[in-house]
Amino acid sequence: MAGEKKITFALAGNPNCGKTTLFNNLTGSTAHVGNWPGVTVEKREGTYRNKKFGIQADIVDLPGIYSLSPYTSEEVISRNYILEEHPDAVINVVDATNLERNLYLTTQILEMDVPVIVALNMSDLVKKQGDYVDAKLLSKKLGVPVVEISALRGENLDSLMEQAMSTAKNPRKCSTVLEGTKVDKLIKTLEIALRNKEVENSLFHAIKLVEGDEIECKMHADLLPMVEEFRQTFQDELFGNDFEALIADCRYKAIAKDYSPAYHHKEGEKVSGKEKLSISDKIDKVLTNRWLGIPIFVVILFLIFHLVFSDDLLYLGAMGAFGEGLADPFAGSAWEGLFVGAGINSPGVILHNLVDIILNNLILGNISAGLESIGTEPWALSLICDGILSGIFAVIGFLPEILCLFLFFSILEDSGYMARVAFILDRIFRRFGISGRAFMPMIMGFGCSVPAMINTRTLADDREKTATIRVIPFFSCGAKLPILTGCAGAIVQIFGFPYADIITLSMYLLGVVAAIAMLLLMRHTTMRGEAAPFIMELPAYHLPQFKSLMVHLWDKTKHYIKKAFTIIFASTVLIWFLQSFTWNWTYISVELTGQSILASLGQLIQPLFTPLGFGSQLTAVGWVFAVGAITGLIAKENVTGTFAVLAAMLIAGTSSGDYDEVSSVVAMINQTGITWQGVIAFVAFNMLTIPCFAACATAKAELPKGKFRWTVLFWLGSSYVISSMVYIVLSWWWTLFIFLAAILIMMATIWYINQIRDGKRSLPWRHS
Ligand code: GDP
Ligand code: MG
Repeated sequence: MAGEKKITFALAGNPNCGKTTLFNNLTGSTAHVGNWPGVTVEKREGTYRNKKFGIQADIVDLPGIYSLSPYTSEEVISRNYILEEHPDAVINVVDATNLERNLYLTTQILEMDVPVIVALNMSDLVKKQGDYVDAKLLSKKLGVPVVEISALRGENLDSLMEQAMSTAKNPRKCSTVLEGTKVDKLIKTLEIALRNKEVENSLFHAIKLVEGDEIECKMHADLLPMVEEFRQTFQDELFGNDFEALIADCRYKAIAKDYSPAYHHKEGEKVSGKEKLSISDKIDKVLTNRWLGIPIFVVILFLIFHLVFSDDLLYLGAMGAFGEGLADPFAGSAWEGLFVGAGINSPGVILHNLVDIILNNLILGNISAGLESIGTEPWALSLICDGILSGIFAVIGFLPEILCLFLFFSILEDSGYMARVAFILDRIFRRFGISGRAFMPMIMGFGCSVPAMINTRTLADDREKTATIRVIPFFSCGAKLPILTGCAGAIVQIFGFPYADIITLSMYLLGVVAAIAMLLLMRHTTMRGEAAPFIMELPAYHLPQFKSLMVHLWDKTKHYIKKAFTIIFASTVLIWFLQSFTWNWTYISVELTGQSILASLGQLIQPLFTPLGFGSQLTAVGWVFAVGAITGLIAKENVTGTFAVLAAMLIAGTSSGDYDEVSSVVAMINQTGITWQGVIAFVAFNMLTIPCFAACATAKAELPKGKFRWTVLFWLGSSYVISSMVYIVLSWWWTLFIFLAAILIMMATIWYINQIRDGKRSLPWRHS
């Protein structure tokens, strides 16, 4: 359709009504869909194409909102978009199972001069409940087209778009349900005054002015006396002066009278969704119970980690279910250990072994044998096998675990459980100045810090936002997993503690605890403030959809593999190079590790890490840990990649060439003499320190001006202090009491200082 004006549709609706699902389905995009409010914070754009009807249109996914009053940044973004960017039509997505509440927003959108079409979403659920919506009646009452769709199943989307196209062609005059109510006269007067000032959408602005909307009152301050006068004159008639409440009441009354009858309930059922609600309610009685909520969350996390990381499913082996031990059906072959570890392997471990055997035993082994047989130069052989392949394979080998963990997290999120977790945490921590709004982006940090940091835009308060962005990296993201599993696996192999799942889970929990502790600290010192109110309606539980889970996973995989072949590839080659050459540019083959450029640089920073257990107390090659920690700053997968390259070179000649991530950490431990406490502290440091480049760039963009520098210092300082504490306490358990005493004293001091600052107490020597 060359030459024609581009058509733009904006998707607007309540949080969690399915806008992003619809957006993804229309544009083929893979934006994040989550079963909790506030997932989409910024508007997102894509293109819808339909060759059959010759349609092409730009689609904008706006953040979810309950009203067009400017109480949150989402509401401001959505409102300004519709008012200022003039989309050709607004597609108002309405969750049909919550018709009344959703139509509250609709009544406000209709007050603007913009073509509107209502997409009645979740019609599959309505049908499933045995209910039915009279779309024709609703359309007649609203005065705009209504199309029943299911965004999730992709039902009726083409007809929605066709209708939207024809709707967009005709300009629409605003309408309001407030006509004939007590404030009607005031609205009409204001509207005329605004129209005289040539204000667009005069009806919308007039109504917002009556509601006492902050933005509006500032913009049209000259009209405020009119509102005031009206208030005075009709004081008695209006039963109180709260126009905003009055208008809200009028809207709901109109919805109940005119629109609700369009919803027909299943025979014999009186109230909408009662039965369905009560199932969710029953589940919530247990899951969000005051005392059980947190323990249940920890148990669920444990089960997940057990299913992904344990080589002894359900601890059957440890409990002696197999007597002497399981016979490995693949004993002696390349596939040995695929299913059998200490007992039966968990699904995550089986998948990991599968990928590992294929990558290392079959591919890498054959390539190196093949290259050797055709007489490749030793340095080229080393570059290809030790540098490039072992580095990349060590990273890709983790895909199974990352995908498994991500699958489980997606299920928790999509089912609606994660929203409950935010709710539980809000209940506990709000009195300490942290609101549930801050927990949602933090929990997203389990996936990746970048979108999580962007999501802090829902936090209105700059101090709370800054504090939240700082602790988001403590929620260990997918990329940190290889460090964790590699080290946990090595600890299991060398130090005889057989529970890889418990080690991994503890490290995750350490991150969570550190995040909450640091957040509390900041909220009472440099970032003081009260928690903003947190109103969230808990979404109904629903079974996660297979398709959307797969979309998530594929997105993650794509991203991860791309990273492996770009950033990780480049870094492993660089590490190989620095490790293979001396300062005089001579190639050193193997084992002369002390002379390489990398070694001398590493040795320079190694002493810094002595309090953390991987510094000067290690042998001469102990610098590898220091180097690993530094390369991790570019991308966290690099730590594993670096280890694989270094181990491959350190143990070359002594080993058969199986350099998977666990055996490379094993080699590191054997060569450096590090203790298990040191390994744990190393993992802790990597989890808590400065995140990857991408996360840093996001933090810089999202943080208020001037805060980024301090944030970097915060990351360095807190990771250094906490990891030292971890190392010292694990090595000498009684030091725990010293640290506890120190923390108590610190807390008391902060409390006292804050009391003085608030004027509740004065310094002893200030008494007059
Ligand atoms: P948004 O907050 O409006 O962007 O909503 P999302 O697109 O993130 O969807 C919220 C939840 O509703 C997700 O768990 C979706 O899978 C689910 N959902 C979206 N559309 C439908 C639908 O048509 N039917 C059903 N049953 N679920 C849906
Ligand atoms: Mg969304």
